[in-house]
Amino acid sequence: MDTPSDRVPLAERVERLLAEEGPLPLVAAGHPVLRRRTEPYDGQLDPVLLARFVQALRVTMRTAPGVGLAAPQVGVGLRIAVIEDPAPVPEEVRVARGREPQPFRVLVNPRYEPVGAERAAFFEGCLSVPGYQAVVARHASVRLTGQDEDGRALDEVFTGWPARIVQHETDHLDGTLYLDRAEMRSLSSNEAAARYWAQPTAGEAARALGFDLP
Ligand code: ZN
Repeated sequence: MDTPSDRVPLAERVERLLAEEGPLPLVAAGHPVLRRRTEPYDGQLDPVLLARFVQALRVTMRTAPGVGLAAPQVGVGLRIAVIEDPAPVPEEVRVARGREPQPFRVLVNPRYEPVGAERAAFFEGCLSVPGYQAVVARHASVRLTGQDEDGRALDEVFTGWPARIVQHETDHLDGTLYLDRAEMRSLSSNEAAARYWAQPTAGEAARALGFDLP
């Protein structure tokens, strides 16, 4: 779909976006930018503008708050995402979900491939699909390749919750939302998820709502 804003050069659109102070407005499901494949980052933003954009993504992610944010979620179709998870969860949740703290990272042109066949299924949500959560079975471990914000090569294995975060964010860069991969019978409002499905695993939800776990 071609709208007038699509014809404005990317750098100029990012400049306009950054003209306002504070967190960037998030775009919600239904916006076509969330369903397009992003352009690989190849210098479309000069280093100073890239650094400002990354900083704005960081502020926006922290304000939301979220543990990851992809450029299309602020309306920019570039293959860039940020992640960060302080993991403020109880010990039994940390152990069951592998939710280890993940320092702030910038993912430029990321791609992932599974490591091993193990899958893990837990509730997750998305800042672009506010108000809901659903169970998604994902690779328990993935190899992520790409670059960092300084162009250094990235080639790293992520496991547990950080593996879930990098899959969710990289999927955004391919126009995929977590709902595309979710067990739809698990779909829960945030209120219902907090009230009924706060257990460390999704076992009780699977039995009560009627879906299978891997
Ligand atoms: Zn998301």
